[in-house]
Amino acid sequence: MIPAPFEYHAPKTLEEALRLVQRHGDEAKLLAGGHSLLPLMKLRLAAPRYVIDIGNLRGMSYIREENGHIAIGALTTHADVEGSALLELKCPVLAETAAQIGDVQVRNRGTIGGSLAHADPGADYPATILALDAEIIAASTSGTRTIPARDFFVDMLTTQLHPGEILTQIRIVPRRPQSGAAYEKLHQPASGFAIVGAAANVLLAKGGKIEQAAVGITGLAAKAFRADAVERALAGKAVSEKLIDDAARNVGQGTEPLSDLHASAEYRREMARVFTRRALTRAIERARGNA
Ligand SMILES: Cc1cc2nc3c(=O)[nH]c(=O)nc-3n(C[C@H](O)[C@H](O)[C@H](O)COP(=O)(O)OP(=O)(O)OC[C@H]3O[C@@H](n4cnc5c(N)ncnc54)[C@H](O)[C@@H]3O)c2cc1C
Repeated sequence: MIPAPFEYHAPKTLEEALRLVQRHGDEAKLLAGGHSLLPLMKLRLAAPRYVIDIGNLRGMSYIREENGHIAIGALTTHADVEGSALLELKCPVLAETAAQIGDVQVRNRGTIGGSLAHADPGADYPATILALDAEIIAASTSGTRTIPARDFFVDMLTTQLHPGEILTQIRIVPRRPQSGAAYEKLHQPASGFAIVGAAANVLLAKGGKIEQAAVGITGLAAKAFRADAVERALAGKAVSEKLIDDAARNVGQGTEPLSDLHASAEYRREMARVFTRRALTRAIERARGNA
C-alpha cells in the first residue's frame, strides 16, 4: 500500500520543528520512529499534507537524573529504555514495560514519545506511566507546559497535546524505599500489543500495610486509565491474597470495555482482573524486598 502524497520536512533543531508544526497545525504529522504513523499512512487511515521528521533531532534521546527525577527524552527508543542501567536501578518497571513491546525491530525504532503521543488503546507504556504518576512535557513556539500523566490520555488515539505541540520529555520520580512496581500483560500473539495490561506501583507503610497503590490499565478501554476503585480498595489495608483478589475485581468499574476480533468485552474485563491481581502481587513482593 502506498501513502497519499505529502510534503516531507526534516528539521535539524527542535526550534525549527516547532516552527513547522506551528505553521502547518493539524495538516502536519510528526514522524518519530514511524512504527505507528507509517502503517496508518499506508492504509490511508492518515493522510497528512506535511510530514515533519523529528527522528534525527539531536539531544532528544537520553535517560538521565536531574533535580530529583528521571528525565527521558521523547526520542528515546524502547530498546534504550529496556537496556537503561539507570532505569534498572531507579525505575525498573519502565524497562520491564519496554521489554514487552512488540519485537526487536519495533523496539529499535519506536520511541517513548511516539508511543505516548499516539495513545493506542493497546500500547504498553501508558499503563506504567499512569501508575508512576509521570509528567509529560510538551513544547510549542510559546514555551513548554507540564501535563500530569493522569490528564494526558483523552480518548482512543487522542491526548492532551495540541496541534503545534511536540512532546519533548517524560519525567518520573525514582522508586522510594518500601515501594515496588510491576507490569503484567496479556499479549496479542501476532503484534505483541496488550489485549490488557496492568501496571501496579505500591508503597508499603512501616508495619507492612499498603500506604498507597497506583494502578494503570491499558487495553481494556478506549484509553488507558487509573483504576481508582482498585486503589481505594487497597489503601490503608493489611496485605493478603484475599485483599488483592477482591480489590482487583473493581478494575473495570466505570469503564466501557472494548470488544474486537481479538477479545470480547467480557473476556477483556476478566483478563484485566487477572492481570491486575498479578501486577499487584509482584509489586508488593518487590516492595517487601526493597525495604
Ligand atoms: C508490528 C508492530 C508491533 C507493535 N507492538 C507493540 C506492542 O506490543 N506494544 C506497544 O506499546 N506498541 C507496539 N507497537 C507500536 C510501537 O511501539 C510504536 O513504535 C509506537 O507506538 C510509536 O512510536 P514511534 O516513535 O514509532 O511513533 P510514530 O509512528 O513516528 O508516531 C506515532 C504518532 O505520534 C506522533 N508523535 C511522534 N512523536 C511525537 C512527539 N515527540 N510529540 C508529539 N507527537 C509525536 C506522530 O505524529 C504520530 O501521530 C507495535 C508496532 C508495530 C509496527
